[in-house]
Amino acid sequence: MNVEKKVRTRIAPSPSGYLHIGTARTSLFCYLYAKKMKGEFIVRIEDTDKSRTEKKYEDDILDGLAWLGLTYDELYRQSERTDVYVKKLQELVESNKAYISKEKAKDDETREVEVVRLRNPNTLLTFTDTIRGEITFDTTELGDFVIARSLTDPLYHFAVVVDDALMDITHVIRGDDHISNTPRQILILEACGFERPQYTHLPMILAPDRSKMSKRKGAVAVTEYRTQGFLPSAIINYLALLGWNGGTEKEIYSIEELVQDFSLDHLQKSGAVFDIEKLKWFNKEHRKLLPRETLISELKAQLEGNSALLRLWRICWSVFRHGQSLRKQL
Ligand code: GLU
Repeated sequence: MNVEKKVRTRIAPSPSGYLHIGTARTSLFCYLYAKKMKGEFIVRIEDTDKSRTEKKYEDDILDGLAWLGLTYDELYRQSERTDVYVKKLQELVESNKAYISKEKAKDDETREVEVVRLRNPNTLLTFTDTIRGEITFDTTELGDFVIARSLTDPLYHFAVVVDDALMDITHVIRGDDHISNTPRQILILEACGFERPQYTHLPMILAPDRSKMSKRKGAVAVTEYRTQGFLPSAIINYLALLGWNGGTEKEIYSIEELVQDFSLDHLQKSGAVFDIEKLKWFNKEHRKLLPRETLISELKAQLEGNSALLRLWRICWSVFRHGQSLRKQL
């Protein structure tokens, strides 16, 4: 990889659910690394699967990232980029790196479809992952896999590879559930003549019983923590330390301090257990750091929904202010 290139990272969420705490952490690491390297952080909404995606989820994801302070430099939607994928698909077919294959539809044997398959060179493929080191796959088992349902309907792996290359993504930082996708994506990337990004696959965030986090075992959506009154700064601080450490005893970080100290070298190899008690502790610590005015307006916002409590608060506040002015007069 060309070391002179400006660092560009991306988060590529599918809007098929609310902003997940795991996506928030991946976004954070992408953001921290990009900012640390004076680079750019990109959000790419992967919304090509119409049956699974909804606008309300896209809104929630973007709103959640903004609330956490993870501002992006560029925003893309895959649904708006079909022309780009079609052009690249055609180029691959013309250069004989991929071919159109007439076959029976998987869901209906009586229907014939024209899928696009990649010509697999059937080699041993090795890539370097920042956390796990060298990973080797025998790609023979993948066969000539399908990269598009038709010349105008590219599949997920193809779109990801084209986007990462054309968006000049230098570092692909994502969950380690994508490790098994990487060989396919590298084969596509090589067929297209693109440069490899640096891959960093982050270990999953785990539930306390070390299984995958799920709704049954606690809140998984950032918005739930937000409505429970957690501060964005506390969530950021906690998520950063779920899988990364600064190599010191320091625990309380602002996002600016995280940008300063962050590096990909101190990422943890094993999955990190999400501990709600620890998050509560971070919340308490961050609350202590808030200016008084912020605390007051936050309290007001919490009271807004409860008119009786709000009235009580107004009375207490005016008594307090009155007391202050009386003290000044004495
Ligand atoms: N859209 C994928 C997801 O939501 C991410 C793809 C990637 O990071 O390469 O899991």
